[in-house]
Amino acid sequence: MVDWNRIDTVLLDMDGTLLDLRFDNHFWLEHLPRRYAEKRGMAPGEAAALLAAEFDRRRGSLEWYCVDYWSQRLELDLKALKEEVRHLIAERPQALRFLEELGAAGVRRVLVTNAHPVSLELKLAATGIGAELDRVYSSHAAGAPKESRRFWEWLAASEPFEPARTLFIDDSLPVLEAAADFGVGHLLAVRRPDSALGPRETGRFAAFDHFSELLPVRRNGVAS
Ligand SMILES: [Mg+2]
Repeated sequence: MVDWNRIDTVLLDMDGTLLDLRFDNHFWLEHLPRRYAEKRGMAPGEAAALLAAEFDRRRGSLEWYCVDYWSQRLELDLKALKEEVRHLIAERPQALRFLEELGAAGVRRVLVTNAHPVSLELKLAATGIGAELDRVYSSHAAGAPKESRRFWEWLAASEPFEPARTLFIDDSLPVLEAAADFGVGHLLAVRRPDSALGPRETGRFAAFDHFSELLPVRRNGVAS
């Protein structure tokens, strides 16, 4: 599926790519609406509908991903609420093995995420991915989400990578489009980011389900 001789760097998304999107979907669509309803004395369904409309208005912007923004806007401590469901944070199957094999084969492993630093810290603490990454970038440091060209220009100025010899893996199609526009040479979508939901269409992007489909990482005829 991937010709590893043509790849020096792998840029990896976190939520829905290395980690199961179940945590995030549960948090934003169920847990947060439930806590919001309790605080406001609303029916849970009413709170869920109100929040869904709020989220839609900000979708794809940096604010949509911002723990501080939503904590202020909803007058709730999102960091504490995320801690309440942290048991749902989990790697997708074989994600760690994939990172280990990349490392052993000398491929640079770089996390590029829209997650806010608070969420990023929580997830690195709750999983084993941090030890298997060479570098971690949050788009909040760029001041622009991965959906925008500005993010990719900022990344290129921060991280030495050759776009033509880079593989980028993400579950967001608008983000993959932005990477393609910037000239990232190899792109892969995640077919089933949330383990509780079925597979999705990934448009013009090649997709995979299980990381084992990308293994072994074999370069110059030598398996890692
Ligand atoms: Mg994602």
